Amino acid sequence: MSRFWSSVVHNLSPYVPGEQPKQHGIVKLNTNENPYDPSPRVLAAIAAATDRLRLYPDPHATVLREAIAARYDITPDEVFVGNGSDEVLAHTFQALLKHDAPLLFPDITYSFYPVYSGLYGVNYEEVPLDDGMRVQIADYRRPCGAIIVPNPNAPTGIALSRDAIETLLTDHPDQLVVIDEAYVDFGAASAVSLVARHDNLLVIQTLSKSRALAGLRVGFAIGQRPLIEALERVKDSFNSYPLGCLAIAGAVAAIKDDEWFTAARQRIIATRESLIRDLFELGFEVLPSAANFVFARHRAQSGAQLAARLREGGVLVRHFKKPRIEDFLRITVGTEEQCGRLIALLRGLI
Ligand code: PMP
Repeated sequence: MSRFWSSVVHNLSPYVPGEQPKQHGIVKLNTNENPYDPSPRVLAAIAAATDRLRLYPDPHATVLREAIAARYDITPDEVFVGNGSDEVLAHTFQALLKHDAPLLFPDITYSFYPVYSGLYGVNYEEVPLDDGMRVQIADYRRPCGAIIVPNPNAPTGIALSRDAIETLLTDHPDQLVVIDEAYVDFGAASAVSLVARHDNLLVIQTLSKSRALAGLRVGFAIGQRPLIEALERVKDSFNSYPLGCLAIAGAVAAIKDDEWFTAARQRIIATRESLIRDLFELGFEVLPSAANFVFARHRAQSGAQLAARLREGGVLVRHFKKPRIEDFLRITVGTEEQCGRLIALLRGLI
């Protein structure tokens, strides 16, 4: 606290990201990163872009928006890019989600949503997941200003079908519905194909997970032109150059390397399925995951205790001290070897 602070700062409760340990040899299954290195084409593109560091980057990141548009069969002016999807989300909260009626999101979801709401003064209401930890579209049929839901949801990993999302869109023709698809490439159906038919849909994706580029900080939104224009107006009132030339070059190469993308996601999905079987055999209840993480609780052991013991054994997983989910662990799908170490350690603990 300081007398120099603006008044808004006193009331913020900032987001706390998962730990990034300094020690080597830790099995890091706590922040849903991709366990594999990104496409070698990304590294080559970044190296080739270093001769442009003297200059400011393209403020519109045109080549990247063109690459994303070509991949998703839309036009570049339906694409907005930002410094990680967190920045895209932040601009979305400010530009599109602040209304008199409350913003709705699940009670158990990405914990940055209440933080952005606090930062931008967005009035919100949490809609409880059902007893199976699922988002029930019918529960959103109530007065609201807008809706944001991750698909698959985090930290549960459970996906909604594209039909369920279309129902959400038709239930709320006069409210914006944001679908946060940070984990969509690991097994859920993207809503991007619904953008042409629904002017109230904004889809947000990231290169952090399925493209293994969490360190590069690139995310994007896809929606009809008026929504993208709102994001551009906020961005151009905030930072003209959110993406550096290295990020733009690396992201273009990543979007274009379909071969790497397909192989890496298939490998993670296969490892996820064997991890789920192993956890099940150890007495865990595991929610059905369409993401690169699983959400699991043990029948006999507390989540906090298991997370602490795993940490002592050199394996980091994420635990949330939050009602309803305090006995769950969110475990990122690592390499086969990393998941093997986790399971071996759990066998000793249980
Ligand atoms: N949405 C969800 C649901 C997430 O879990 C994350 C990762 N913490 C993000 C968005 C943000 O990812 P990034 O800023 O790396 O794109």
